[in-house]
Amino acid sequence: SETRQPLVVGNWKMHGSHAVNEQLLEALKAAGPLPAEAAVCVPFPYLAQAAERLARSPIGWGAQDVSVHAQGAYTGEVSAAMLADFGSRYVIVGHSERRQYHGETDQLVADKAKVALAKGITPIVCVGETLAQREAGETEAVVKRQLSAVIHTLGPCVGEMVVAYEPVWAIGTGLTATPEQAQAVHALLRAQLAAASPRAGQMRLLYGGSVKPDNAKVLFAQADIDGGLIGGAALKAEDFLAICRAA
Ligand code: PEP
Repeated sequence: SETRQPLVVGNWKMHGSHAVNEQLLEALKAAGPLPAEAAVCVPFPYLAQAAERLARSPIGWGAQDVSVHAQGAYTGEVSAAMLADFGSRYVIVGHSERRQYHGETDQLVADKAKVALAKGITPIVCVGETLAQREAGETEAVVKRQLSAVIHTLGPCVGEMVVAYEPVWAIGTGLTATPEQAQAVHALLRAQLAAASPRAGQMRLLYGGSVKPDNAKVLFAQADIDGGLIGGAALKAEDFLAICRAA
């Protein structure tokens, strides 16, 4: 929409190295003005590198997960305060890979969004149905349930988050939701948000799932799609920038 600044976020997942990231970050920094706000969510060890390379650039950075705990004996976890300490603007929470492989529940995801916001970091909350759920006609119920936990947990702060609709069957598969399928879910999500927050009309709702330079434009042209969460195509500067330019 014209009133919402589009946002395109790269989810690097567990990819990269100092050397590879260096090239990617330098290429992004060299891109010049983009029509979308751009950000990268990098593996934890590379937050310092992103912070250093992207300082004084308009491109934001952040992480792909956050601990629900503030501090303490939680071996292997990283707190929201630590992410804030590295200047993170965003954190992805509830990515389907974390829900699937790490058993993250709707309530845990909601709690993670809350701790992020409390430290001034914008959570990018991912929701989306599996193929079996879509085929069973459960898409609406599933995304509604996932979002509802976040709405109840964040209360009046809900308008400050970003939501990413990522159909699980479209992630990393080369299958993309049609623009109509994606828009239909985005409209449902925005209506659900509107019932909870006066800021729903200003909130950015991203689509994710095999977004590429050649399909980004038509997806981003949908009324309630305000940018994307980009996996595979975020690892190539030219593809990521082309997607940013499609917004
Ligand atoms: C993702 O994992 O957030 C994602 C959208 O991945 P891809 O673009 O590779 O489908």
